[in-house]
Amino acid sequence: MRSPALSTLGWRPCLRRPLLPHPRCSVLTTRRYESTGPLSFSELDKKWHARWADTKPSYLSPDASDAPKPKCYILPMFPYPSGTLHLGHLRVYTISDVLARFKQLQGYNVIHPIGWDAFGLPAENAALERGTHPEKWTLQNIEKMKEQMMKMGGRWDWDREIRTCDPEFYKHTQRIFLMLFERGLAYKAESLVNYDPVDKTVLANEQVDANGFSWRSGAKVEKIMLKQWFLKIKEFQKPLLEDMENLAKGGRWPERVLAMQKNWLGRSTGVKLEFLVHKANGSNDAIEVFTTRADTLFGVQYVALSLSHSIVREAAKEDADLRAFIDRAQNLPPDSKEGYLLKGMLAANPLSSIIDLADETVPVYVAPYVLDDYGSGAVMGVPGHDSRDYAFWRANLGDAPIIQVIVPQEEAHLEFKMLLPGDQDKPMLSKGVIAKGIEDFSGIPSDEAIDKIVDLLQKQDVAVQKTENWRLRDWLISRQRYWGCPIPIIHCDSCGPVPVPKEDLPVELPKLADEFFKGKTGNPLQEDPTWKKTTCPKCGSAAERETDTMDTFMDSSWYMFRFLDPHNKNELVSSALAESNMPVDVYVGGVEHAILHLLYARFISKFLATTSIWPSGGGPENHGEPFKRLITQGMVHGRTYSDPTTGRFLKHEEVDLSKPKNPVIKATGEVPNVTFEKMSKSKHNGVDPTATIAKYGADVTRAHMLFQAPVSDVLEWDITSISGVQRWLTRVLRLSRVSWIPPHVLGNFTLPMDIDAPLEEQMQELWKHRRIAPTKLHSKVRDPTELDILRDYMKGPEKQLWTKTQQTIESVTKSYSETYSLNTVVSDLMTLTNAIFDASHTSPLMSYLQFLSTAHLLRMLAPVAPAVAEEAWETLIQKTGTTISSFVQHPLHCRNWKSVFDIGFPRANDTELMRQLSRTITTVVQIDGKRKFQVEIEGPEARLGTPRNALPDEEVEFVLSQVVETEEGRHWLGREGGKIWRGEKVGEGEWAPKGWRVMVVRGGRLVNFVGPGVKKGKGEKREENVRAEGESDGEEGRTLIGRTPLAQEKSGRTYSLNYITDLLKEKENQVKGPPEV
Ligand SMILES: [Zn+2]
Repeated sequence: MRSPALSTLGWRPCLRRPLLPHPRCSVLTTRRYESTGPLSFSELDKKWHARWADTKPSYLSPDASDAPKPKCYILPMFPYPSGTLHLGHLRVYTISDVLARFKQLQGYNVIHPIGWDAFGLPAENAALERGTHPEKWTLQNIEKMKEQMMKMGGRWDWDREIRTCDPEFYKHTQRIFLMLFERGLAYKAESLVNYDPVDKTVLANEQVDANGFSWRSGAKVEKIMLKQWFLKIKEFQKPLLEDMENLAKGGRWPERVLAMQKNWLGRSTGVKLEFLVHKANGSNDAIEVFTTRADTLFGVQYVALSLSHSIVREAAKEDADLRAFIDRAQNLPPDSKEGYLLKGMLAANPLSSIIDLADETVPVYVAPYVLDDYGSGAVMGVPGHDSRDYAFWRANLGDAPIIQVIVPQEEAHLEFKMLLPGDQDKPMLSKGVIAKGIEDFSGIPSDEAIDKIVDLLQKQDVAVQKTENWRLRDWLISRQRYWGCPIPIIHCDSCGPVPVPKEDLPVELPKLADEFFKGKTGNPLQEDPTWKKTTCPKCGSAAERETDTMDTFMDSSWYMFRFLDPHNKNELVSSALAESNMPVDVYVGGVEHAILHLLYARFISKFLATTSIWPSGGGPENHGEPFKRLITQGMVHGRTYSDPTTGRFLKHEEVDLSKPKNPVIKATGEVPNVTFEKMSKSKHNGVDPTATIAKYGADVTRAHMLFQAPVSDVLEWDITSISGVQRWLTRVLRLSRVSWIPPHVLGNFTLPMDIDAPLEEQMQELWKHRRIAPTKLHSKVRDPTELDILRDYMKGPEKQLWTKTQQTIESVTKSYSETYSLNTVVSDLMTLTNAIFDASHTSPLMSYLQFLSTAHLLRMLAPVAPAVAEEAWETLIQKTGTTISSFVQHPLHCRNWKSVFDIGFPRANDTELMRQLSRTITTVVQIDGKRKFQVEIEGPEARLGTPRNALPDEEVEFVLSQVVETEEGRHWLGREGGKIWRGEKVGEGEWAPKGWRVMVVRGGRLVNFVGPGVKKGKGEKREENVRAEGESDGEEGRTLIGRTPLAQEKSGRTYSLNYITDLLKEKENQVKGPPEV
């Protein structure tokens, strides 16, 4: 529908890039990539960061009248304050900020806190190197990083900021330790520990790499015996394993993380049994082993003990060679197969009590490959069926034959084998059946054999038990360092370890002078003469404080609770706040924390769920899990240049980057190798995110980062492509200046009362205020629906734009909700931006649709590019809100329209409507009244679904052009050799040869080509027969005869303005009561 005014202005629908008569529109089409205008992106950051800091957005100070909002707790893993923010940080904090803003726009009460994982070794090492107190170093770094975080435009709850090194925080870390202690879940025990001789501290197993080096200092880790504090995480191993099933549902946690945790917990089911040891001195002992393959018991050829097994320690007292071996073995790689044969000792196979075995007794070795913490530090060596045992045997016993007692099912008839070095010399690892020649067991499958062995041994009163074994060990939390949370225990000679009374918490770290740290090694707490001296809280006698501090994973195991109540002086969190806000809804962080941090946090959280702090544990479905959803973002890799001949990594200044796509090595003129690799100093590929933000602005940097890769993939940071994002956001800012609205429409523009109202309601309002012209409907429509009116009103370009907007809202909402494809949010919004930009200016309605689409675009953009969205929103409302002052009750007058973040996230209300409006129809084509074929075509734009109405000219043309373009259409009707033409000369714009009539009826569902030989009456009669199949309500056929203009509508009627407003009023009254005038 075109209004006459626009037609006289020369408005015509066109496919792309309208050339409109008024100057603003032509500027739009010819200078599409002009600069952002008055403000650069970094200036925009400054303007809006200041504005946000100045005025608290309404979501932070809700009206008393506001209905309570549902909560959403979004938490990124808090940073270690190293002093510099790197791109990995920027990625995780951008992702979490985008989600937080999205949820807030969706109407949630979002908790999005940030804090500092502030204890830890780097601070202490820096202190020892430079003679600066670790606290000073840490606090300086926090200030630096906080400033950098501010620059990225994050929406952080700074009023919840915490630092784990703050006594007000670690007081509660100590409290949790004591709660565990009271429940018997914290204990001190002597154990063989990994000791880092450089950092002079104990390391957890997981902090030692596969080659036995410290993850932090890189030093070769030693094994020493020390009394250490442990937490009994093993008490929770079963729920930790089993509750993962819930976390796996619907992909809430990444599969990879769950698999790693499962492997770490390492539950296996097997058999615990005993080998009796006969010693040369006549005494006996027993070695308990755990095996998952008791069916291979017939093939045991030795027993091996760990370095710290009690029998080994006992033997070492008398055996100098053994002591030397143990010392040396500390430094062997973990996969070493060296062994030490214990003299004068033989172990008896428990099966020898049931059947005759070739070797009833086997030698006993000490072997570093046997882990202390698996089973009971002893394994039965079955070289025929285990690859490590096999390697050990060949390393220690050379060519000695290896017995193989299990064979594949299909070889059940074969005798057991003896392996000798050669082709066949390899262990059989899979289960099978017991080989022939083993008395009473031959041919029995492995699993049955296990049951039978256990059964028979039990009858013989041999110690045997089917059991589970776990790889998980208790959590060693002692660290012999200063910069950690002190363990609140006092050691008294008469009372033992006594907890520090609750009222004496926190046990604060001593205030040591900077110089104290300079050049020190070891634990400053132990060396401080005064701090550790105290009195026993129980008996009052002189006592000493525990000088170990806690592993920093202890701080991060519970910090998500503290964020909910950071200023609570008495409790770590009020139970009410924990109950109403835990678990965290979305937790975002690096996959490097897949095991330890997440496992410890799950443990402590499950523990707190057994206390009065979080009694519900998040409800019966949640089982005390702290994180409902986990998002692990991929790493960021940097563009890396290397010399193709030497392989040397090149600094960026060594490469001529004036043409970024074609870099050249300055010195040689050669083309460098370009790769993307993990950022490191040695590869000269690091990127300072603050420099990027300073240059391009926070929003461009954020959008570029999101656009480059799905959240969980590796991100190849390539700054050369950032200009695409720059151009896009520039375009968005230009859209907001509404130069696409013709001046006479803009002068009369009305902002909608409810920006999210369905299109029908928006149009009612526009009609009511006479912003768009009334529609014209055929007189025979007795009761047009709103759909009819919309169909009548919306032309192709309008439908296209509104359909695109609705689809984008739908897909962007989905992508934000599922999180993994934030990159498609950016690409979808780019497409929508172009669709709005390129929309043809067909009518005043189009101006309103472009306005609404732009408004929705900005609301969807706001999480990604908050400052650009705010700026564009402000401009859009200023430019279009000119007549708003007359509407006293317009929402613009209250706070709700001031910030784009107050307006909420758009809803795709009209997707179904647009589907109905743009659906396809089936058209039957007849020639001389005989059905020839049928095709699927796009429905004509107006009055589709109201088949009583004849189609207007352009719709008839629309239907015919589509029919002729189909394969069948070309065959029958095509101007190049279509059957009806019979070689006749074809004129431009003709649908049929001279003398033919073309009738399009039933809203385009029936097309009849009637040749000159057929009498008119006959043709029409046939047509009526067809019509009789469907509705037959005075339907009017349209006749095209050659190039003859279409006949005038016989009974057209123009709906009056009054008719439409009456109709709408009536409907409005039914729904809402009388309309406002
Ligand atoms: Zn005492």
